[in-house]
Amino acid sequence: MVMGSLKQEAEVVVIGGGPGGYTAAIRAADLGKEVVLIEERDRMGGVCLTEGCIPSKTLINAVAIALDARKAQDMGVLFDGIRLDENQLRKWTQTVVSELSSGISSLLKGRGVEKIKGRARFDSDRSVIIEGGEVSGVEFKQCIIATGSRINEIPAAYNLPVWSSAEALKIPSIPEKLVVVGGGYIGLEMGLVYAGLGSKVSMVEFFPRLLTCADPDLVDVVVKSCEKRFKEILTDSRVTGMVKTENGFSVTIDHNNKKRILDADRVLVAVGRKPNTGDLGLENTKVVVNDKGVIETDDKCRTAQENIFAVGDVTKGPMLAHKAAREAKVAAEAIAGEPSAFDNRVVPAVIFTDPEIAWVGLTELAAKDRGRKVKVGKFPLKALGKARAINRTEGFVKVLSDPDSKLVLGMSIVGHKASELIAEGALAIEMGATLEDLLVTIHPHPTLSEAVMEAAEAAMGSSVHIARKRG
Ligand code: FAD
Repeated sequence: MVMGSLKQEAEVVVIGGGPGGYTAAIRAADLGKEVVLIEERDRMGGVCLTEGCIPSKTLINAVAIALDARKAQDMGVLFDGIRLDENQLRKWTQTVVSELSSGISSLLKGRGVEKIKGRARFDSDRSVIIEGGEVSGVEFKQCIIATGSRINEIPAAYNLPVWSSAEALKIPSIPEKLVVVGGGYIGLEMGLVYAGLGSKVSMVEFFPRLLTCADPDLVDVVVKSCEKRFKEILTDSRVTGMVKTENGFSVTIDHNNKKRILDADRVLVAVGRKPNTGDLGLENTKVVVNDKGVIETDDKCRTAQENIFAVGDVTKGPMLAHKAAREAKVAAEAIAGEPSAFDNRVVPAVIFTDPEIAWVGLTELAAKDRGRKVKVGKFPLKALGKARAINRTEGFVKVLSDPDSKLVLGMSIVGHKASELIAEGALAIEMGATLEDLLVTIHPHPTLSEAVMEAAEAAMGSSVHIARKRG
């Protein structure tokens, strides 16, 4: 590496310090590459760590503890005066974020990855210029784009001081009345946090149901729980106008073809995200971007420009941190000449509502769309000893399999700790497991994981714990 001048050279440049970027940088360095990582933010960790997965789950956990403490009265555990201290909550979230971010920085440092602060832009297929930093540019042999995604806006809210998820996560205040526009996973997770903090939440969703990507039977369980916590859930509703009033906002919606006006102290807009590819100078390379701004890549995460790779939210597939991290390893290994490919069969999806939703592989919705016949085995958590012992009986595990080969094709879970349980489904599908593999595997008792085994038993008609009559 040539140091001293404002221009540098590197074997591998990684743009973006999120789960895609930092994972790629570390893996490439471990494989012997000389790596420079360019990140425009002060902190490492990207959206996931600074304004996504981690702060949201930190808040969700705090709110859940308060709710559990109240629920624990049923079990004879009595607390007096449970309340959430918003200042301490902010402080705690920031502590978690900054400790993890420092951890990433020291992992990078340990590997000798050089960090450059600034905004990178390609001026050729072998170099980037950097704005806002001490180094003005870097020439590279190979590059990994991991610039992530940013929030979508809605026309009705242009130039209005509405919250995005990033702002809402900072808990600037706890509004008495909060309108959440968007009934996807981010809207639901944040809506539940604010409901837990005491806000009256009105959720507005364009589609006829929430979480359109998940199977309706899973979503129904969560909607039932949200209906108890939210003031209202307005599906089939489009925001047609929004104005700032003296104390808040007036939101006009078209609800089932009728006009309604919602008054709110605050409005949170959570209507999806788009890839950060617009101002990267990709026109100076052969990288191909589709009409949605998504970079096209092959199974090695290589773009149409042979020496440039792309991973994470800028590429096709779900915008999820674990998918970004897997692609990052593939790209770094491909650069190092390893026989690596993104040949994963499935990417698990998790929604940290209460109860949680998680699925992996084929869903019933997708099977129906594709006209694919599946055998479904379902096991209700209320029939499970552990679920009863911890007073978390809502939900079920569902296993989808091929009716002939019994190969596990998909698993969906709604219930407590679904986010943890779903990994077994991912492993089963990656390993080509059958229903029999799941049901003969001894699951520890009493645990929630037994529901996975029981769902496989249900599909095979051999469940002991599902009631049935002889004959
Ligand atoms: P990012 O994490 O977006 O990182 C990209 C980085 O690139 C950023 O730090 C950015 O500053 C930097 N950058 C961009 N352009 C440039 C440039 N030109 N020059 C230099 N630096 C640049 N996913 C999950 O899997 N589980 C969850 O529970 C989850 N919860 C979420 C909750 C919320 C509220 C949000 C918003 C997202 C959540 N996600 C979750 C999604 C997850 O955050 C993303 O999928 C993940 O961060 C993508 O990683 P990435 O590395 O592709 O990009």
